[in-house]
Amino acid sequence: MTRSDWVTLCDARLKGCDVTNFSALEICDVGRTAYGVCLSAPSIEKLGNALQLIDVLEWVRRADGEAPILINSWYRDPEYNETIGGVSHSMHITLGAADIVKVGWSPSDVADLIDDSPWKKQLGLGRYNSFTHVDVRGMIGRPAPARWGN
Ligand SMILES: [Zn+2]
Repeated sequence: MTRSDWVTLCDARLKGCDVTNFSALEICDVGRTAYGVCLSAPSIEKLGNALQLIDVLEWVRRADGEAPILINSWYRDPEYNETIGGVSHSMHITLGAADIVKVGWSPSDVADLIDDSPWKKQLGLGRYNSFTHVDVRGMIGRPAPARWGN
């Protein structure tokens, strides 16, 4: 799927689900390269996983006067994921994980917020120095919760 096909198809689905704060290129920046490997678009059938994650991200976004969320990394195809050193079973491959920053917030405060969310028992939560990883593993049949990092 080309970058423009992905944007057209994905943004139409997001709009149909009343998602206005997240876009196709935030979910997958098709064509981004890392170490010479080009990020491919996901199958549109996986978008349901992204929509479940968006429910969580919208909740995080609404905290603190709706300070925006920046997406460092959302979808990774398996080859791209392997190239950047992601774990082989990474939730990023499912579309159900994102590495995020909330403007004006420290990553640890974002992680604390998510760890107190209504979905906390279904989530994976990774604490890193410059971002927070959140995924919906328990909503797609994987063991949950999971916590790691400092
Ligand atoms: Zn991650």
